[in-house]
Amino acid sequence: MTQPTDQPLVEVQDLRKAFGEREVLRGVSFSALEGTATALLGPSGSGKTTVLRSLNVLEPPDAGRVRIADAAVDFSATGVDNATRRREVEALRARSGMVFQSHHLFPHKTVLGNLLEGPVQVQHRDVDEATADARRLLEQVGLEGREDQYPSQLSGGQQQRVGIARALALNPQVVLLDEPTSALDPELVGEVLAVIRDLATHGWTLVIVTHEIRFARDVAEQVLFLDDGVIAEEGGPEVLTDPQHERTRQFLRRVL
Ligand code: ADP
Repeated sequence: MTQPTDQPLVEVQDLRKAFGEREVLRGVSFSALEGTATALLGPSGSGKTTVLRSLNVLEPPDAGRVRIADAAVDFSATGVDNATRRREVEALRARSGMVFQSHHLFPHKTVLGNLLEGPVQVQHRDVDEATADARRLLEQVGLEGREDQYPSQLSGGQQQRVGIARALALNPQVVLLDEPTSALDPELVGEVLAVIRDLATHGWTLVIVTHEIRFARDVAEQVLFLDDGVIAEEGGPEVLTDPQHERTRQFLRRVL
């Protein structure tokens, strides 16, 4: 996809979302440049996961606009017929790959089978080509030689690395990671963070919800601090060492 270099790859405008009476997103806007990592931080319940799930429409926003590369959905637009909206949403979804808190691998499929599901079943890619790509991705996440194992034969950290490889296998333009290490035993966190760091240095565009503040400071070019459904503070990683807002300071004091 050719993007003019000065145009962000991801653009989110004025996202709003309520669950019942509760307004969870109250106008969230940001953009992300290609090849950068954006960390979404903030207290539990501030709306981080809902923002991430809005980007691939796992949770459709009530209003606002999301664009990734050449695919955009304007959730505020009225008069869009269902078929058109479905097409728009499908196109937007195809631009991102999601890594969940717990990996959601298919237990009855091998590692390779898990990686091929999306490319072959959904994207109808050539099996040999997709297999070659999947093997390369497994190597990238340090799991070469594990192709024929089942998820239950792997550690939690290895399973999550398969989860990351599976998201990459869709060849997305943006990788969305929702607290990718929070379900892991502490001793397994490092290996998964190392893989994500490697993606960041290899030019992937990442949006990560994380509580790993030090990791965010090291890896993210952009930090967004969410509080009660709005971005309370944003900037480069220096936001984490020198926050301007009291809410950010309070949050960092609690977690660091
Ligand atoms: P965070 O990721 O910052 O912890 P979330 O985006 O998960 O926050 O949630 C924000 C708020 O929205 C929370 O109060 C949560 O309980 C609520 N919420 C999230 N998903 C749903 C849902 N599907 N139904 C009802 N409430 C939800």
